[in-house]
Amino acid sequence: MAERYQNYVNGAWSDASSGSVSTSTNPADLSDVIGEFQASTAGDVAAAITAAHDVKESWRRTSSLARGGYLLKAAAYLEANPEEFAQALTRECGKAILEARGEIGRAVALLQYYGVEGSNPVGSVVPSVNPEILLYTNRMPLGVVSLITPWNFPFAIPIWKMAPALVYGNTIVLKPASATPHVATLIAKMWEAVDLPAGVFNLVTGSGSAVGNELITNDKVAAISFTGSTRIGMNIAAESAKRGKRYQLEMGGKNPVIVLPDADLEQAAEITVSGAMKFSGQKCTATSRAIVVGNVMEEFTNLVVEKTNALKIGAGADPESIIVPVIDQASKDNIASMIKRGVDDGGQILAGGGVPSGADYDKGTFVEPTVINNVAADAYVACEEIFGPVLSILPAGDAENALDIANSVEYGLSAGIFTKDLNSVLDFADRIEAGVVKINGETAGLEPQVPFGGMKASSSGDREQGKAAIEFFTQTKTIYVDRSAT
Ligand code: NAP
Repeated sequence: MAERYQNYVNGAWSDASSGSVSTSTNPADLSDVIGEFQASTAGDVAAAITAAHDVKESWRRTSSLARGGYLLKAAAYLEANPEEFAQALTRECGKAILEARGEIGRAVALLQYYGVEGSNPVGSVVPSVNPEILLYTNRMPLGVVSLITPWNFPFAIPIWKMAPALVYGNTIVLKPASATPHVATLIAKMWEAVDLPAGVFNLVTGSGSAVGNELITNDKVAAISFTGSTRIGMNIAAESAKRGKRYQLEMGGKNPVIVLPDADLEQAAEITVSGAMKFSGQKCTATSRAIVVGNVMEEFTNLVVEKTNALKIGAGADPESIIVPVIDQASKDNIASMIKRGVDDGGQILAGGGVPSGADYDKGTFVEPTVINNVAADAYVACEEIFGPVLSILPAGDAENALDIANSVEYGLSAGIFTKDLNSVLDFADRIEAGVVKINGETAGLEPQVPFGGMKASSSGDREQGKAAIEFFTQTKTIYVDRSAT
């Protein structure tokens, strides 16, 4: 019998009013049921929002040093037993255990960063034209913020939203992806363990279609921070804008690398394959297109195919596995149909293209790492996000043409270039339409102390992480104090 988990609302664990639950399973072994989770209703979400609303004033009035103190205690709590959390991540989202450990390490770093941020200055004193006036700015919290998060970084993404949200004085309601509710309950337990005041953090599980609308439209919600697909994100933007609510969206990507003829091809192929294939390409910043300039195409392609064929496919719990299961059967089917469409459009499969067979693979949702060439730059497979271990290799006549191809899609999250030429580097950094730019580096992989976000259909609203997070989670007040009248 699977363990049953509850929502965490107003400092207490509670059942959803629907009386229904849904299950979460291990993508490496679909017979491994992780637990049953509350299928919440709009009413349950409204109750969580009210709980957050009722304490927003007392949380705002809590010193930001004290707020940061809770984050530092949470970091210490995770650090005391990181393996428990890493194992839970691997079991629920399929991620390789080494990457799961990295994700927990990142959550610790985020909590520490924003914990310390609680003692940093906010606002500034500005000279007034009138010497009797003290003129200063202050940063005020927004109030209640809804956090809607995806399954691919089920620990780090909620933390990178909630750590700044909390330290800057907001109260929150988290709705995690339906595929990874267990990891979210571990986050709730963390806040419970460090005695975060009741109502400041609330967790409600349930499907986006059932509870999403309430999280966005409830009058007590001041802002929505969302990470997920562009389709859902754009709808959140429209609904938020109608109601004058602030929103922040981090969405899909179709991330390119450009390989110039002077690049270290061995290094470029190694990094490209790593960026495209680790976690089976299920990162918003995963490399999806390699755009190769000039006569190095054959050598680069051979290296990529060789390295792709050497990747071990297996469950994330095996430390040797690079190609882990994709999140669920629907995703596996979608990846297969994208590959088929690529072939129908004239693409040639150079590696993978199918699913691995055998007892270890049949019980999970595995797909082979796939390299495809001969597709046009505007073919569906070369323009749309796949969210699987699939890399398209595209030819370009020169660096200018490569940049045009790189910029031709609707997304603009992350991009890289491989070259030793400084002018090419600087030109690329200026003109590529991407929020994250890597020079001789992997498109995936971010540091938490710097801003993160994309351009075009990949993002909307203020940047996340680093000092930039203050822009979304606070509003500026300008205060004039006339001393002559006091
Ligand atoms: P998704 O299907 O858009 O879901 C994201 C979240 O939105 C989930 O919690 C989902 O709940 C919820 N949701 C679904 N329908 C909703 C609705 N009508 N109203 C409000 N919320 C709703 O995305 P995903 O499949 O979980 O994640 C993969 C996507 O995330 C990819 O496109 C990837 O590129 C993107 N991503 C972007 C970044 C970034 O920083 N740019 C980072 C990671 C992932 P349910 O799970 O219950 O449907």
